[in-house]
Amino acid sequence: MRPTPSLPQNDSPAQQQQRLATLTQQRQVYAYNFDSRLSPLGIAAQVPRQDNFSFVWLDGIATTALQLLGNVLAIGAKLFDNGEAVQNDANLSETELRRVEALYQDLTEGFSRLSDRTARLHQAPHTPGVAFIAGIIERPRTLLKAAGQVLEETAGVAVVSEIATEAGKDAPAALAQDIFGLIDELLKKLLSEAGELFLQYLGLSGKAGSLDAYSAQFSLLQPPAVASNYETDLIFARMRLAGPNPVLLQGIDVLPEKFPVTDPQFQSVMGPEDTLARAGREGRLYLLDYAVFQGIPTGQTSGGQKYIEAPLALFAVPAAGQPDRKLRAVAIQCAQTPGRANPIFTPKDGTSWRLARLHVQVADGNYHELISHLGLTHLVLEEFTLSTHRQLAPQHPLYLLLTPHFQGTLAINNAAETSLIAPGGPVDRLLAGDIKASTQVSIQAVAHHSINQAFLPRALAARRVEDASKLPDYPYRDDALLLWNDIRAWVNDYLAIYYNDDAAVRGDSELQAWVTELGSPEAGKLKDVGENGGGIQTFEYLVELATYVLFTASVQHAAVNFPQRTVMSYTPALPLAAYAPAPTSVQYLPASTELTHLPPLQMAFLQQAVTFGLGNVYFTRLGGYDTYLREPWFADARVWPALEVFQKRLRATEQEIGRRNLSRIPYETLLPTAIPQSINI
Ligand code: MN
Repeated sequence: MRPTPSLPQNDSPAQQQQRLATLTQQRQVYAYNFDSRLSPLGIAAQVPRQDNFSFVWLDGIATTALQLLGNVLAIGAKLFDNGEAVQNDANLSETELRRVEALYQDLTEGFSRLSDRTARLHQAPHTPGVAFIAGIIERPRTLLKAAGQVLEETAGVAVVSEIATEAGKDAPAALAQDIFGLIDELLKKLLSEAGELFLQYLGLSGKAGSLDAYSAQFSLLQPPAVASNYETDLIFARMRLAGPNPVLLQGIDVLPEKFPVTDPQFQSVMGPEDTLARAGREGRLYLLDYAVFQGIPTGQTSGGQKYIEAPLALFAVPAAGQPDRKLRAVAIQCAQTPGRANPIFTPKDGTSWRLARLHVQVADGNYHELISHLGLTHLVLEEFTLSTHRQLAPQHPLYLLLTPHFQGTLAINNAAETSLIAPGGPVDRLLAGDIKASTQVSIQAVAHHSINQAFLPRALAARRVEDASKLPDYPYRDDALLLWNDIRAWVNDYLAIYYNDDAAVRGDSELQAWVTELGSPEAGKLKDVGENGGGIQTFEYLVELATYVLFTASVQHAAVNFPQRTVMSYTPALPLAAYAPAPTSVQYLPASTELTHLPPLQMAFLQQAVTFGLGNVYFTRLGGYDTYLREPWFADARVWPALEVFQKRLRATEQEIGRRNLSRIPYETLLPTAIPQSINI
């Protein structure tokens, strides 16, 4: 039975005592660790049992691993004669060929073991009545859904670690451990020395001879659509508006001094009638500035030295009345200081321009992963998760509203801290900066992130991109705003059930402790959270802040997470590091020069695996609070009509986005049915 929601000030003295006791316990369970790789940010000292990954989530991971491994084996299938490696272009010695053969054998066996375990996971019996399934219904498993579909019809969400304590050897927990272990083992094999030989044999290693070599990484997997159009300037511009990192473009009146684009340069793209001054006056100039990467120490890989620049890029919208008012890429300067060695490139500059564009993409990929994704969704939500459990009693209405949006967040962030951003881990290998410097970029981004300025309408206005008459085609803005409004209406209706007025908000001691903890330099360390004068003074602000939490956990994370698969898994479209420095002059270069700037194939292979893996698990769906539950998540029947309205609004938004996609290049990232409730991948 879920507790009846109540505010602390409305409880009896005995109930209030009980709440305090519960919170004291919760603070032990949800303790901070300030000494992790993310120090000084606090993360959960350990992942509490009930916050561990669930079985449905594990399904998503196992399915994704099978797809990736199946893809590799399919590429290999053509190159092995009955499992035997034969001499090919890779020019391996006999001994090396035997090692390649052995690995192929290993991976094939690993694949069938993994698919067997995954299938058994589906059929694993659950014991009704055991504590670990309290409140969770186990529906009969259907077959695995195709990847990308939310696994709503499949079995329950009993968490792996809970089952481990309750069940015997052959139980799901053992299977789950097996699955995690197998995935880990297979990944290690692929990343080993033998793995490198194997990739070499498959033609998936070393410098690419042509762009086709990157497409050849896709056999069973479909290459993302962007593979066929990323080389156009229109798609390069559109990445700012509907790509993996659609949150950086800044409207400007005048160019900064450090980026002295001239009118002739501007006019070479925008036509002789337009000028920088006029475009600035009319709010049609937009800037990307990657100053954050200036001077960042870079790393090295088996593929050589990595590079990242701190470029500036200028974009503009054609004047009102023009037939096509799509955003245009105008000019790029690859470093912060103008000068002879830092020319300004325009689309007229052929290969030099395309290289400058590539270096913008590299900076954008690093900005995306470190700041927009890890920092401003995963890590910010870590703090909200901890504060909520530490300061709000389980019967607090805000606790009940927020916690479904934290499912799996501590677990995935813990995994990120221990492996993803570990030295030698994927972020270290793939991203341009050395791992310490990269991690600092994320940490600093969180430290400087004003929560109050991040509420979507304000954030859009601050970047001066809110006006659709000035910037007509901005799919992220348009879809995200619909969803912000849907969520805001729901949060407002829900909280209005419990708070009659501002006095009720001010008198809620748990709520005040919650916001204090979020902003405390000893705890949540978030910047600008709470109202002027401290705490939460008004119902209005409470609604805004809670909307921000739900929105960030669901919509914003989806906006930056899922393009990892749909864009970034094709490395040339958004390489996570450059392997040559940016050009320092406008000169004739053969088109193939691009290949020396792009990551070598083994790094592209890793980028594909990591971004496809992280962008392919859709666990839970926005608004689906009751999906895996026997009883409604919200026990208070007064909530149900409001929730129905929310779900109805989400369906209408789904249709509206579908309609929009008929008259724009489709942007499907923020279809509500493709947005999980929480950050769990
Ligand atoms: Mn993510």
